[in-house]
Amino acid sequence: MSSTHPSNSPSTPATEGEHKVSNFLRQIIENDLDKGTYQSRRWAGSPGDAAHHAQGEPDPAKIRTRFPPEPNGYLHVGHAKSICLNFGLARDYGGVCHMRFDDTNPEKEDTEYVNSILDAVKWLGFNWEAHGQNHLYQASDYFDFMYRAAEYLVEAGHAYVDEQTTEQMRLNRGDFSKPGVDSPFRGRTPAENLKRFREMRDGLHEDGSMVLRARIDMASPNINLRDPAIYRIRRATHHNTGDTWCIYPMYTYAHPIEDALEQITHSFCTLEFEDQRPFYDWLLERLCEGGLLKNPPPRQYEFARLNLTYVITSKRKLAQLVYDHKVNGWDDPRMPTIVGLRRRGYTPESIQLFAERIGVTKSDSWIDYSTLEGCLREDLENKAHRGMAVLDPVKLVLTNWGEVFGSDGYTEDCTQPALPHSAIAEGQTPPPDRVFKIGKEVWIEREDFEEAPPKGYKRLFPGNVVRLKGGYVIECTGVGAKDANGQVTEVHAKVIPDTKSGTPGADSVKAKAAITWVSAADGVQAEVRLYDRLFLDAHPDAGGKDFIEALNPNSLKVVTAYVEPSLAAAKPDEKFQFERHGYFVADRKDHVAGKPVFNRVTGLKDSWGK
Ligand code: ATP
Ligand code: MG
Repeated sequence: MSSTHPSNSPSTPATEGEHKVSNFLRQIIENDLDKGTYQSRRWAGSPGDAAHHAQGEPDPAKIRTRFPPEPNGYLHVGHAKSICLNFGLARDYGGVCHMRFDDTNPEKEDTEYVNSILDAVKWLGFNWEAHGQNHLYQASDYFDFMYRAAEYLVEAGHAYVDEQTTEQMRLNRGDFSKPGVDSPFRGRTPAENLKRFREMRDGLHEDGSMVLRARIDMASPNINLRDPAIYRIRRATHHNTGDTWCIYPMYTYAHPIEDALEQITHSFCTLEFEDQRPFYDWLLERLCEGGLLKNPPPRQYEFARLNLTYVITSKRKLAQLVYDHKVNGWDDPRMPTIVGLRRRGYTPESIQLFAERIGVTKSDSWIDYSTLEGCLREDLENKAHRGMAVLDPVKLVLTNWGEVFGSDGYTEDCTQPALPHSAIAEGQTPPPDRVFKIGKEVWIEREDFEEAPPKGYKRLFPGNVVRLKGGYVIECTGVGAKDANGQVTEVHAKVIPDTKSGTPGADSVKAKAAITWVSAADGVQAEVRLYDRLFLDAHPDAGGKDFIEALNPNSLKVVTAYVEPSLAAAKPDEKFQFERHGYFVADRKDHVAGKPVFNRVTGLKDSWGK
């Protein structure tokens, strides 16, 4: 495997250094490369039929894969698996992965989605440029060829126009135990069929009044081979071809042709298409026979789709969450869409790592959500700068401050490393230290003070000695104030002089614990969005369940926190580890300098299933 081939790929795969585990798709590709299955292919610089490619050079790409979304929604984490797989395999084997919009269905598609899909793929770290070409295609550009191929099938006796009603067709298809019944129109001559098919194209017949069907085998045990429909009449304006066509190819007919015109070698899809494979092969064999396409045709291989616990991966159901306002849009940080994961604080590297780690298999299974979170933690552990934030603040007053330092208004700088020593690779320069102030008043976490501590409690309670992390050792003296409900609003303590972290006296007094804090002098108020799982059920839509009922009513809790200045200065999208709390990201939409907004990506430890 060469690392210098001009393939479309991220220059540094996230998983570089991690051993690439072989899988059945890698074995298929390696086997084809060994045998030279696709060695004779030519590539004319753009998609096309046999005659077109015959004029081309030997294909510079050793394999061609494709990622073919329908532009009918936002991509989700399941698509991310497919993207990493298709682009990743092309990268690893000196190939090219085409970015293709499967836009043959005029009704559901929208240009709105096109850009979001391109953005998502690019953000994940991939691109479709290779060998000086831009391999961005749309299936609707192939309508002319698809029509021509259909005429060929008609003329060769492999297709016929069926005028049965939909209901009749359904009844005559039979089922698993019963063979189908031939349509009364099945015996028409090619000439009659061609005339009819052209009338369909020319708009002489009503929508739904007839279809073009492949003539294969009405008794096939595979129902998909019982003369599947390949063209239907549908008067709809297409976002690319406008009103040029009133007939449109069916997906099962269009997809193999798209692959073949683009000289795809390995067409990877999810398991539900397994039953379609015989038709895929049948169709391409016929078109190769007719000389429209050249052997060897692409081959389809199926892998298990991603199922992630507590997550829904269906564009339609995700759309329902958006349109019913169960979430705040496609990029709501609770959504498993790529835009949602991105806003939540996931990194492309963590998602690539996830895709690599879950691998590919031939049988469906559920991946635990914690696997995804684990990949994020692993990616951010050595990257995300540390900082202190108090999420449930209560004021702590150091009552002897003025006495010790000469004035109540006195403040002093504290410094702490932005990354722990363990996160710095050998030879790497550590980032500059964080600097924050300490003064008479600081914010601490409410849970860090107990008036009457439970057994074993080590943090603040009257008489106990703790360290303000990176600052001074203090001794708690008790409650300073309570509100009308008896809730503590102020805690009192005394600062112990000459105990500041990093000074010679730091160890002179033994602290029972170190607590996180933010100074009232330079701490900045921040909105922190504490996200939790969107669903309470690990399999929210399994077995036809109503996933809306499984929604977690507490999937978002917004708190007003205090953060240290280095966090308040974050750029949108910047990720941090809030000490003891987990990983957080400055919200890419709402965070602005001076008015910080953070999203919790994940806690520091796995809390799922607990
Ligand atoms: P949805 O059911 O959410 O609409 P889809 O399969 O219809 O998804 P497409 O846009 O047609 O969406 O899919 C583009 C590619 O992504 C296909 O090759 C498809 O197999 C793959 N894909 C979609 N969902 C998953 C998933 N959960 N796991 C792996 N691959 C997926
Ligand atoms: Mg689909």
